[in-house]
Amino acid sequence: MTLILRGLVVHTPKNPFRESGALEPFSDGAIAIQDGKIAAIGNHVQVAERFPQAKTQDCRGGILLPGLIDTHVHYPQTRVIGAMGYTLLDWLEQRTLPLEARLSDNKFARELALEFVRLLLSNGTTTALVFGSHFQGATANLFGAAEDVGLRIIAGQVCSDRKLLPELHTTPEHSYHEQKMLIHRFHNKGKLRYAVTPRFSLSASEGLLEVCQTLMDEHSDVHFTTHINENTDEIRTVAELFPWARDYLETYDRFGLVTNRSVFAHNVHPSELELARLAEAQAAIAHCPSSNAFIGSGIFPMKRHLQHGIRFGLGSDVGGGTGFCLLKEGLTAYIAQRYAEDGFPLTPAHLLYLATRAGAEILGLENTVGDLSVGKAADIIYVRPEEKSTLEVHFRHLDSVEQLLGSLFTLHGEAKVEKVWLDGQEAILN
Ligand SMILES: [Zn+2]
Repeated sequence: MTLILRGLVVHTPKNPFRESGALEPFSDGAIAIQDGKIAAIGNHVQVAERFPQAKTQDCRGGILLPGLIDTHVHYPQTRVIGAMGYTLLDWLEQRTLPLEARLSDNKFARELALEFVRLLLSNGTTTALVFGSHFQGATANLFGAAEDVGLRIIAGQVCSDRKLLPELHTTPEHSYHEQKMLIHRFHNKGKLRYAVTPRFSLSASEGLLEVCQTLMDEHSDVHFTTHINENTDEIRTVAELFPWARDYLETYDRFGLVTNRSVFAHNVHPSELELARLAEAQAAIAHCPSSNAFIGSGIFPMKRHLQHGIRFGLGSDVGGGTGFCLLKEGLTAYIAQRYAEDGFPLTPAHLLYLATRAGAEILGLENTVGDLSVGKAADIIYVRPEEKSTLEVHFRHLDSVEQLLGSLFTLHGEAKVEKVWLDGQEAILN
């Protein structure tokens, strides 16, 4: 059975930071889906001719995009969004970690997991690298909830054994055993993958980082994620805790944690040496523009990352960020780069790439998702302007698809994710 989605279709099968013409639009376009995969993409007339028996869904009221990819989001933090007046360390201590401690209660953790996956989906996010919980049971709940709705999730049990809230501390031995069990249970189960996830080296002893290294060595395809260079107080504290380290990155690098499987969130204040080492190791960054602005961390030095050839995708960083919507993250990245002294001039093509294919690339999923090329998983979203909205006016008076895409990012608050297909199956949004 073939399904055709007909409408305005846009994707970025190429990298607009490197190549021109990366944006591929079809104004009366169509995507044909067979067995959960994309069988064709192009102009509607041509696609319809190839599949005369197909059932067609009319999506001409909005825009069809690849499912969005969030490369940094915290499952326990949905209810923290909007905590104003803090910077990183007091925000963690006073608002975020007390809530995270409540996830020792499995019933509460399950409630949050269901809420979290529902919000990812209703915001059009179909793939995410997720910071789990400090608790094994809560992290298992996240995997279970993601599997039930068919989301593509890479996640892990967060670990800390010093500083911050003692209720969240583990020991290296205990963490090893708990993570091992989660890897066996969930890694490579359907679309689930595991990521070794120390919260940050500020709250990790050398023994705990060694355990992370052991897990990465024992499982050659698990991912690694953590935070780095987010806030200047954090960086100072890390320097005090690791007097032998040349810089923040070395606190991970000493333990073999800087690899092409690693995604570091933020990197707002890197040194040139750190950038060179990240590039050499082919490690990647989750750029979280709304969080960086909201917590007052600073502006991401995008140009310097590009100069070093470091890959990066977008992260909502819920709950330091301002919500789950990755279109909004695209707009915030755009605005921040306009403000920055040495900002990069982003275009709508860059924003779409960052919200989709760039994420797939940094998660090693570029052959599976991230754009709408033939053979990829049919993870697709249908986004519509709200009735009588400014965005609807823009849709009615379409000049070019690229301009409309700029409007979509700018007026994201008036865009509604109407439908989501995961592997070609329409998901239930509620
Ligand atoms: Zn974070």
